[in-house]
Amino acid sequence: MLSSPISYRIVEGALVLARKSFPWQAIYQMGQFALNQTGRAYTGKVPLVWTSAFFPVEIAWSLQLCPFSPEVAAAFITGIGFGQEALSMGEEAGYSRDLCSFHRCIAGAARAGHLPRPRALLASTHLCDGAPLLFQNMAEIYNAPCFTLDVPYAADRDAEVYVAGQLERLWHDLAEATGRRPDRVALGETLRHSNGFRENMIRANELRCRVPSPISGNDMLAFIYLFFIGQGSREAAEISACLAKEIEEKIAGGRWGGVEKFRLLWLHLKPYYSNEVMSFIEQAGGVLAFEEFNHIYWPPLDPDEPFLSLARKVLAHFDYKPVEERIRVIRELAEKYRVDGIIHFSHHGCRQSTGGSLILKEALQEAGWPVLLLDGDCLDGRNEAAGGMLTRLQAFFEILEERKEGCLI
Ligand code: SF4
Repeated sequence: MLSSPISYRIVEGALVLARKSFPWQAIYQMGQFALNQTGRAYTGKVPLVWTSAFFPVEIAWSLQLCPFSPEVAAAFITGIGFGQEALSMGEEAGYSRDLCSFHRCIAGAARAGHLPRPRALLASTHLCDGAPLLFQNMAEIYNAPCFTLDVPYAADRDAEVYVAGQLERLWHDLAEATGRRPDRVALGETLRHSNGFRENMIRANELRCRVPSPISGNDMLAFIYLFFIGQGSREAAEISACLAKEIEEKIAGGRWGGVEKFRLLWLHLKPYYSNEVMSFIEQAGGVLAFEEFNHIYWPPLDPDEPFLSLARKVLAHFDYKPVEERIRVIRELAEKYRVDGIIHFSHHGCRQSTGGSLILKEALQEAGWPVLLLDGDCLDGRNEAAGGMLTRLQAFFEILEERKEGCLI
């Protein structure tokens, strides 16, 4: 079922019928885009490339390839109930349970033949240590070339030139490996789409400063799909434009609002195997006012200097720097979105996110925000009983409540 393009066509059809029931047409459009892309991935008609979470996917779009994010696929597989089976298969293949469950799930799903066969794999070394290693292993399974972008830690001029040089070579090598013709005009067009996506998301993010929040952060976490796979596509530019327009219209029409007991800033991703945690937050009156993953941190791309500007984008990530930079960005977001508290979803096995979380917590608490480090796992429900997470959330909300009451006295 998972690997049949027909399944995706059927669900696409069902989605059309349910179009009006979507609270946001941008989410409906994104669903259509995701299903269409996944269906294409399994038909094998367009050369498919796997891209790791932070790889600049514009490279693939500019060569008219079909990019596929196995991390997103792992979340999808988990969401539809096959996560446990894939995780077990990954563990049987030797992926230990202290590794990130996204990677275990991908390894298991690949072993079971659930994932589409790539013509090439594109991984980047920044932020996610595990991805380049996993991609190397997957390249062996699929007998496909793996291109690894080596991103240095220092974001100086030398680093920009070094990364830009690699990207240019990689672009040509990838074109050769997939039978595509490298075309600078198409590359420029891709960068313009990417800039469109960036500008629209900035616009949407600005609109989200309103109190109460015009859109739920839980809905906004779905847009991770566009961040991982869409940047550079015409569709991501259009969907993000639709999103910004819809939020604008909602605000202009005065058709928004609701009780906001606690405004929260959400760091990292969320559990995909169950909706219990997110529902609990909503029922307790918590609103995700903003999410770290939706923050636009990079400068616009320059179609006249495509590789250099893509290199700048890669090197600009605030989490691939000393932890003080992540603290600075989180503080700015907490102020901008006027949050009452910050929740860091500490996904097991993710060194890039949880590595500095205690330092982050201390610094943000000193600056005046209550912080909860919520230990959990995005995909593996065995790693943390939901009951434990809910108890910790409840205790955190009591702290937020007491602070609010303290302010009123
Ligand atoms: S959660 Fe962390 S370790 Fe896992 S795939 Fe994402 S960045 Fe990599």
